[in-house]
Amino acid sequence: MAILPILQFEEQILETVERNPVAVIIGETGSGKSTQLSQMLHKRGYTKSGMIAVTQPRRVAAVSVSRRVAQELGVRLGEEVGYAIRFEDRTSERTRIKYLTDGVLLRESLSNPELNQYSVIILDEAHERSLNTDILLGLMKRLIKMRASNLKVLITSATLDGEKVSRFFSDCPILNVPGKLFPVEILHSAESPKSYLESSLKTAIDIHVQEPEGDILIFMTGQDDIEKLVSKLEERVQRLEEGSCMDAIILPLHGSLPPELQVRVFAPPPPNCRRFIVATNIAETSLTVDGVVYVIDSGYVKQRQYNPSTGMYSLDVVQISKVQANQRAGRAGRTRPGKCYRLYPSMVYNDNFLDATVPEIQRSSLAGSVLYLKSLDLPDIDILKFNFLDPPSSETLEDALKQLYLIDAIDENGSITSVGRTMAELPLEPSLSRTLMEANENGCLSQALTVAAMLSAETTLLPGRSKSTEKKRKHAPDLPDGSGWGDHIQLLQIFEHWDQTDYDVDWCKDNSLQVRGMLFVKDVRKQLSQIMQKIAKGPLDVRTKERWKESRQDYMNLRKALCVGYANQLAERMIRHNGYRTIGFKSQLVQVHPSSVLRTDEEGMLPNYVVYHELIVTSRPYMRYVCAVEMPWVRPILQKLEKLNINKLSGGSSQSEESFDGESSNLPKRVVDVVGPTADPGSMIQAARERFLARKANR
Ligand code: ADP
Ligand code: MG
Repeated sequence: MAILPILQFEEQILETVERNPVAVIIGETGSGKSTQLSQMLHKRGYTKSGMIAVTQPRRVAAVSVSRRVAQELGVRLGEEVGYAIRFEDRTSERTRIKYLTDGVLLRESLSNPELNQYSVIILDEAHERSLNTDILLGLMKRLIKMRASNLKVLITSATLDGEKVSRFFSDCPILNVPGKLFPVEILHSAESPKSYLESSLKTAIDIHVQEPEGDILIFMTGQDDIEKLVSKLEERVQRLEEGSCMDAIILPLHGSLPPELQVRVFAPPPPNCRRFIVATNIAETSLTVDGVVYVIDSGYVKQRQYNPSTGMYSLDVVQISKVQANQRAGRAGRTRPGKCYRLYPSMVYNDNFLDATVPEIQRSSLAGSVLYLKSLDLPDIDILKFNFLDPPSSETLEDALKQLYLIDAIDENGSITSVGRTMAELPLEPSLSRTLMEANENGCLSQALTVAAMLSAETTLLPGRSKSTEKKRKHAPDLPDGSGWGDHIQLLQIFEHWDQTDYDVDWCKDNSLQVRGMLFVKDVRKQLSQIMQKIAKGPLDVRTKERWKESRQDYMNLRKALCVGYANQLAERMIRHNGYRTIGFKSQLVQVHPSSVLRTDEEGMLPNYVVYHELIVTSRPYMRYVCAVEMPWVRPILQKLEKLNINKLSGGSSQSEESFDGESSNLPKRVVDVVGPTADPGSMIQAARERFLARKANR
C-alpha cells in the first residue's frame, strides 16, 4: 500500500507541535490523521508524561480506528492502545493511546477538570462539528492557558473550515497535508429521481456491468434503506448471466451493525471481485474504505433536528451541503482516477445545497450540555455568553435552562444545585438522571435503573418498534404489557421477567427480543448501579427484590419518579381533540405513538396526564414512550412553571444575574454585591478549581 500522505510531513508536524500549544491539521479523509498522528507523537515520547487522547464524534470510529492502531503497533486492543465509549471502556493501566468519543472526554473533565492524565489531546474530525466537539473546543481554550507547560492540543479537520478554528485559537498555526487525490469525474443526473433507492440500484448495476474493476460506495440515508438496497442488489447480481461480469460482494456499513460485521469492509476483497459498500454517511469522513473507485451520491442525509420552540425532534432526510457532496466525491479518487455519480442535477447542487452543514449545536437540545457547563462551576461562565465557535440560538439555550430548572438541576437564579451536580456525573440525559435520583429517594432505584438502561440501549429491543414502522407491534405471548401504565413499566417488566429466567437467551429469542441488545442493557444497568452505589439508599440488585409479583407499589413509586424526571415532558389530555396537549411555554397537540402499550381505563378513557420520553414528528407529532402520572404529582410542576423567569435562569453568578435584571421589566431591582467584576479569568478559574477540589474532598 502507498505511504499515507501524513507520514511525509512527520517532521514538520512534530516541530509544529513542539513549538505551539495548539495546532490545526487539515488533511483529506484517508490521509492518516486518525490513525497516524497519535502514533507519531507516541514514538516521539509524548506518552511518557501522560496519555494521548484522540476524540471521535462517532462511537464506531473510536472502536474501528483504535483497533487499527493496535494492529499497526502489534499490541492487543485494550492494552497500550484502547478505546472508551459510553458504557464501554476498553483501556487499562497500560494504555498510552486512548481513542474516545468526545462525550466521554467531556465527562472525564468533570472529575478531572484539568485532564491531567493526558499530555496530548487530539480533537479529531472537527469538521463534523458535533455538539460535544464544539464544547470541547471552548474548553480547550481555557485548558491551554491553565496547562501551558505540559499540554498539547491538536485539532484535525478534513475541510478548510480549519481556518475558522485557527482564528478561534488566536490564529494558531495550520498545517495543510496535501493528499494526493486522483481526479474524480463528476456525473450529474439530468433530473432528480423519483426514488433514490431505485436510482441507486440501477446506477450500481450499470457500473458493475459496464465499468472496469473498482469498488462502489453508495451513500444511503439510513439502516432501513441500506437493508433494502442490499437485498435488491443481491437479487439483481444473482440474476446477471454467469461469466458476463466479475463476482460481487455486497456489504452494508452503518453504526448499528455489530462490530464483527463492521470490520468486514476493511478486509481485502477476494481477487476478481467487486465490492458494493452500501453505507450511511459514516463513510463520508469517519471511516475510510480502501479500493473505492465509484461513488453513488443520493445527495441526502438523515438528520435529527430539535426544534426548541416546540420541544420536538424530527428525523428528517435533508439535502447534504456542498462540503459533504465534495467529501463524498473525494472517496472515489484515493487510489486512482474515479467517478462520482450524483443522483441530482448540477443546478440542485449549485442553487439548493448549503455551502456547509449546519453544526449540531444549532440543531440539538442543549439541556445536557448546559448542565455540563454549569457544573464546571467557572464563575465567569454565563451560559448565554460562553465562547462557542458558532453560538447556538438563545431560544435553544433558554429551552435548556427551562428544562434544567423544572427538574431541579438549577435554581431560580440559574445556579447549579446539588441535585444538578450529581446528575451531571451520570452518563444519561438529564431527564433520566433526575429520575434515578428521585427513585433513590422514594425506594425504587432498582426499578429506575432498569428503565434507564432499557432506554439507553442503542439498538431496538422490541419487535415492531423499529423507527420506520409505526404499526402496532404484535405481542409475543409472554411479553408483559405494562399493566396499562405505559411503556416504561413495560420495559421494567420485560427486564424483570428476563431476570427471573436467569437471563435466559432463549427467552429473549422466544419473545423476539434482540439478544445482543438485552445483554447490553444488563451490562449498562450494572454500570449505572455502580455509579449510583455512592448515593444509593436501598438495594440495587434486581433479584434482592422478592416482591416483584406484587409490584403495584413499585410501579407507583417509579411513575412518581418519572414524573419528576420528565417534568419538562408532560402532557394533558384534551377531551375534545382526542389527543394531548403538551405543557410548557408553548403547547402542542400531540398523540400517543401507536406502538405504545398505554391503555384506556374501563370507561375507555386515556389517563388525564402522561409524561413522555420524547416528542417526535413523523407523519404527525407523537409522544414516544409514554407513562401515566397522577394529578397530585403534576401540581408542583405547574406551580414551578408559573414562577419561572427565564432571564434569571441564564446567569449563574450574581454578576450576570444583575445584568439580566436590567432587561426584564417585571423583576424588582435588587441590590447585588458585585465582587471584583473585572477579576482576571486566571484567578477565577483557580478559585473555581479550589472550590471543586474542596467539594470533592468532602464527599
Ligand atoms: P483520516 O483520519 O485522515 O481520514 P485514517 O487515519 O482514518 O485517515 O485512515 C488512514 C488509512 O488507514 C486508510 O487507508 C484506511 O483505509 C486505513 N484504516 C483506517 N482504519 C482501518 C481499519 N479499522 N482497518 C483497516 N484499515 C484501516
Ligand atoms: Mg479520521
